[in-house]
Amino acid sequence: MPASSSLRLAGQHALVTGANSGIGAAVAKSLAANGASVVVNYVGHPEAADAVVKEITDAGGVALAIQADVSQEDQVQAMFRQAIAQFGTLHIVVANAGIQVDAPFIDMTLAQWQKVLDVNLTGQFLCLREAAREFMRRGVQPDVSKAAGKIICMSSVHEVIPWGGHVNYATSKGGIMELMKSVAQELAPHKIRVNSIGPGAIKTPINHDAWATPEAEAKLLTLIPYNRVGEPEDIGQLAAWLVSDEADYITGQTIFMDGGMTLYPGFATGG
Ligand code: NAD
Repeated sequence: MPASSSLRLAGQHALVTGANSGIGAAVAKSLAANGASVVVNYVGHPEAADAVVKEITDAGGVALAIQADVSQEDQVQAMFRQAIAQFGTLHIVVANAGIQVDAPFIDMTLAQWQKVLDVNLTGQFLCLREAAREFMRRGVQPDVSKAAGKIICMSSVHEVIPWGGHVNYATSKGGIMELMKSVAQELAPHKIRVNSIGPGAIKTPINHDAWATPEAEAKLLTLIPYNRVGEPEDIGQLAAWLVSDEADYITGQTIFMDGGMTLYPGFATGG
């Protein structure tokens, strides 16, 4: 989309990791619907990435699928090189890719621990660093956006809610909180905004068993005061606003989008 379009992300180029499924796919589609051209990163299932690209282009947007494992430095750097060669630059990076490998703590193997930290935390470090390098190289383009660049880290309510049985995952999300805040502090003078979104329970493949049956969903809803499980589109809409100039004065924050899951719902009746 040209910068002259009235869409709020017109003229901007975005990269979303893990964008061939769930929240990442919804974020990619929402950024595109708001006028950004979008890199749809994937690691497996290229057909799912192609489907997201097709949905965006069928709607009149611009999208490109690029394969990269976010935990591998050479692959992340090659992805950014390809994206910048294609679009000229990037203005928005959403570090969304994430996995769960669950195990009781005393049974958790080093490999299970390391895999989750590699993808969820090191993957974000690698993508944020490449994004910052490009944003600082280019600087602010006032006709495109007030900021030189915008980063969203996909965190979780588990950056603040401990989660037994998922110690590797909760640790990775707690790490993302300090990664995001420290990077935001360091890069603010360069007009780069860095924020996190902390989703609660959102209906995606990562937590399929938690909402797939009426019984499972009813149990999950006891943790959600607003009494509905979130949809990927909820997060997509927030992401498009958070990277827009309407949110230009927000940096270093986690925006929880969780139907009240972080409100200690047990205390509503049990305090
Ligand atoms: P999902 O399984 O649908 O999507 C995860 C995506 O990450 C997939 O596209 C997957 O291919 C990709 N991915 C995994 N490993 C990768 C790697 N090494 N390199 C590149 N991509 C990789 O699940 P989702 O719910 O959409 O998860 C997206 C993000 O949202 C994750 O960071 C997750 O922790 C976070 N989150 C989800 C929920 C929820 O309830 N669904 C809640 C809080 C946080």
